[in-house]
Amino acid sequence: MQVDVVQLQAMFGAIAQAMEREKERLCELDGVIGDADHGIAMELGFSAAAKAVAALDASSSDPTAVFNIAAKSFLSAVGASSGPLYATALMRAGASVKEKPALSDDDMIDVLEAMAKGIQDRGKAEPGEKTMVDAWAPAALAARTARDEGKPLATSLEAAEQAARKGAEATRDMVALKGRSSRLGDRVIGHMDPGAASAVVLIEAIHIFFSDR
Ligand SMILES: [Mg+2]
Repeated sequence: MQVDVVQLQAMFGAIAQAMEREKERLCELDGVIGDADHGIAMELGFSAAAKAVAALDASSSDPTAVFNIAAKSFLSAVGASSGPLYATALMRAGASVKEKPALSDDDMIDVLEAMAKGIQDRGKAEPGEKTMVDAWAPAALAARTARDEGKPLATSLEAAEQAARKGAEATRDMVALKGRSSRLGDRVIGHMDPGAASAVVLIEAIHIFFSDR
């Protein structure tokens, strides 16, 4: 399939709706090991991104412009640490599809990989440190593997969602090595990282969006 600007606009709308629905749960998760604002940050960021993206003229914009404006608006809406992380992810997504008028299944997997890599680079985090990387890194790898096996986009995204979910679950057993929660030591064991949880929400929203097409 070909993903054009109009579909990307709708995809950002779907992500914003998912964050709105999950806002309270994400804040509760963050309340256990942080300052309870993660759901608010993600909802604010993606609603700002969706609004800015929706305002683009689809006939004179390309996918790169969509991701770039999403990055800028996410960054200005979110003061928390997730602001620069997702802004970098979205900028990298834009750079990965430069000058393409519409995106193929392969391009969409490139987008997912670019986002995961951007988050990992910006946060200087490795898997196993109880961050959103624990969901994003396995998700990108699973999507790439499925696509390399010839699976269509929706099936590849399903694999990504499952891997993200498994990765987020695994953060329960981890001690935090990045950010403020790293000061809490063993007290965070048993609790899922909120950034990994919101990564699942995002990847699930993208999966559902492309399953319906
Ligand atoms: Mg927080």
